[in-house]
Amino acid sequence: YRSWEVSKVRTTCPHCGTGCQLDLLVKNDQVVGALPANGPANKNLLCVKGRFGSYKFISSGDRLTHPLIKRDGVFEKASWEEALDLIAEKFSLLKRQHGADALAGFSCSRAPNEDNYVFQKMMRAAFGTNNVDNCARVCHSASVHGLAMTLGSGAMTNPIADITEDVDMILLVGSNPTEAHPVIGTQIRQAINRGTKIVVVDPRKIDLARQADLHIPIKPGTNVAFANGMMHIILNEGLADEEYIKQRTEGFEELKAIIARYTPEYVAKVCEINADDLKRAAVMYATAKKAPIIYCLGVTEHSTGTEGVMSLSNLAMMVGKIGKSGCGVNPLRGQNNVQGACDMGCLPDNFPGYQKVANPAVIEKFSHAWGVPLNRKVGMTSTQVLPAAAEGKVKGLYIFGEDPMVTDPDTAHVKAALSNLEFLVVQELFLTETAELADVVLPGVSYAEKDGTFTNTERRVQRVRKAVEPRGEARIDTDIFFDVMNRMGYPAAYLTAGEIMDEIASVTPSFAGINYERLDRGESLQWPCPDESTNGTAILHVGQFTRGLGKFMPINYQPSRELPDDDYPFLMVTGRMLYHYNTSAMTKRTEGITDICSESYIEINRRDALKMGIREGDRVTVASRRGEIETSARVGEKVNPQEVFMTFHFADGNVNKLTNAVYDEYANIPEYKVCAVSIQRA
Ligand code: SF4
Repeated sequence: YRSWEVSKVRTTCPHCGTGCQLDLLVKNDQVVGALPANGPANKNLLCVKGRFGSYKFISSGDRLTHPLIKRDGVFEKASWEEALDLIAEKFSLLKRQHGADALAGFSCSRAPNEDNYVFQKMMRAAFGTNNVDNCARVCHSASVHGLAMTLGSGAMTNPIADITEDVDMILLVGSNPTEAHPVIGTQIRQAINRGTKIVVVDPRKIDLARQADLHIPIKPGTNVAFANGMMHIILNEGLADEEYIKQRTEGFEELKAIIARYTPEYVAKVCEINADDLKRAAVMYATAKKAPIIYCLGVTEHSTGTEGVMSLSNLAMMVGKIGKSGCGVNPLRGQNNVQGACDMGCLPDNFPGYQKVANPAVIEKFSHAWGVPLNRKVGMTSTQVLPAAAEGKVKGLYIFGEDPMVTDPDTAHVKAALSNLEFLVVQELFLTETAELADVVLPGVSYAEKDGTFTNTERRVQRVRKAVEPRGEARIDTDIFFDVMNRMGYPAAYLTAGEIMDEIASVTPSFAGINYERLDRGESLQWPCPDESTNGTAILHVGQFTRGLGKFMPINYQPSRELPDDDYPFLMVTGRMLYHYNTSAMTKRTEGITDICSESYIEINRRDALKMGIREGDRVTVASRRGEIETSARVGEKVNPQEVFMTFHFADGNVNKLTNAVYDEYANIPEYKVCAVSIQRA
C-alpha cells in the first residue's frame, strides 16, 4: 500500500504476553496489514502471528454480527433488546431460586483490562458472586499463587530487556519461547550470539536446546526434584548466598532439611538425567553474576505446578538472585492480557490489584466504592465451576471470550458440565465449540474495534486503540456488560475505556498512577505504579520482598498423577507451536498461516515409531482413559523414547479429549503436561 492510501493505528499485538507494539494499516474501514513498531518489549520485531495473524480474522466472514437465541435447539437471530432482556430475566430468576453462588462467569484473557475490570464488577456487584475466573487458571495460576506465597507478588520479577540484553547465563525451564513467545525467543537467541550461556531444562529438544551450552531432557513432571537437586549441590559446594539468606529471607533451615535427601544420584534417577549435567547446571547458575530463571507452562501445568514455581523461587533466593538486575524468577505469561485479567480481579479470591476477598476491610472498601453490599465468600475457580455445573450446583454461566470446549482438560467432562447448565451465555467473536452449546450468543468486538489497555508479561500497561468500526450489530463489550448490570438492577454508568481506567486507578493502589493521558503521551508504565511521580516498578523485590521477607517453602517431589502403564504406555506432553495461537480462533482464519500448518499432529520418537511400524505422516489413533482422537505422526528425535508431544490448537484432533482433569492443590491448575496414552496406526 502507498502511504497515502492507508492510515496507521498504533496498538498492541493480540496474541502472546510479550506485548509487541504494532501499527495496524487501515483502508476504507478495513485493517489491511500490520507493521512492527518500536515498543519497549519488541524493539521493531514481530513474529509471524503479529505480522500476519493479527488482522485477517477481523474481517472474516465467520464473525458473529448479531445476537443469537437458541429456540428448540436451533439458533435464531435476535435483537439486542430480546437477548439482553432474556439474559437478565434468566440470571435473576436463577439467583432468586438458588442463590447468587449458583451463578458464575469466565472472563477473557485476550480482552483489555477495562473489559475484565467491568466483567468482574458485573459478576460481583450485579450477580452477587465471587465465582469469577479467567484462563490464567489453566496456564499460570500456579505462578500467581507460587510467587505470591514465596515473594509476595505473583508476577514476573524483571523486564524482558533486563533478562535478555546483558546477562551472563539464562536458566530456561519448561519454556519454548521461539514458538510460544517468538520475539522473546529471538532476543534470547541474540543474547546467545553475544556470548550469554544458556541451560535448557526441557523434555523436548526444542530449538533453543540446539544452541544451548547444556540441554537437560528432564522427565516431564519432575521439576521439584530437579530444583531440589540444584539446591543440594549449591549448598554442598558452598555457593549459597548466606548473607542474602540471613538478611532477606525466612524458613531456610526447614528447606535445608528437605533438600538434604536430593543427592545428584537420586535426582538423576527421578528426572532420568545425567547427574554430572545437574552438577554443571547448578554451578553455572550459582556462579553467574547475572542469571535470570525464565520459565513457562512446563513448570505450571502439573498437579504439582505451584510447588514447581515455589521451588524455582527457593532456588533463586538461595543464591541471592531476586531483586537484582539481570536476575529474578520470570514466568512468561501466555495470552496477550492474561496478566491483566488477573490484575483486574477476574479471580475468585482477589479483587483488582490482588486485594483479597478474604479480607473484611477489602470487602468494606469495594462495597463502599461500588455502592452495594458484596458477597464475602471466596468464589470457585473455573476448574471447580465445571464439576459443580455437572453436579447441578452451578446453574447459570456467563462466558466472555473463552472456549473451554477446546481449552480445558477432558472435553467429555466439559461438555457434560456445560450441557447440564440451566442457562449459558457466550459473548464471542465467532461461533466457537463452546458457543454452540449456549442458550444466548452475543457478538463482541475484537481488539481492533475498541479502545483499552493490555498488560504484558513484564507488567507493562500498553494501549489498545480502535482502528475500525465493529462488524454488523456487534457492540463494545463493556457496553454489553453495562446493559446487563442495569437490567439486573445494579445502576451502571456507560463509561468510556479511559474513564474505566480512572475507576480502576481509584480502587487499585498498584494502578493509582496509570491513566490514558500518560499512556497516550508515550509514557511506559509498569505496575506497581502507585502515583504519577514514577513510571512504576521495573524490577520487583529490590531491597525488600513484597511480602517483607522472602519465604523458603520446603517441598518434596510428588510424581504426576497418571503415569504410563501396560495399557497406556506413552507419557504425553502438550504445548504450543509457532504458527497458531491457543484455540487458533484467530490464526486459523489467516491464509498463509493455514497454508503452512492447519492440522494437529503427534511427535513420536523414531525408535518407538519403528517398533510400531509407524512412518512420518501416517494417521494414528491416540487414546487415553478419557477418549480417543485421530491425528498424523511426526517421527523424529525431538521427543525422548516413550514420550510423545501434541499441540493444543485444533478442535479437530483435540488433544484435550485425552488430557487429565486432575488439579494442583493450591491453584487448581490442571495437569496438561502429563497423561498416559496409547498409540496405534489408524
Ligand atoms: Fe504478537 Fe507475541 Fe509474536 Fe509479539 S511475540 S508479535 S506479542 S505473538
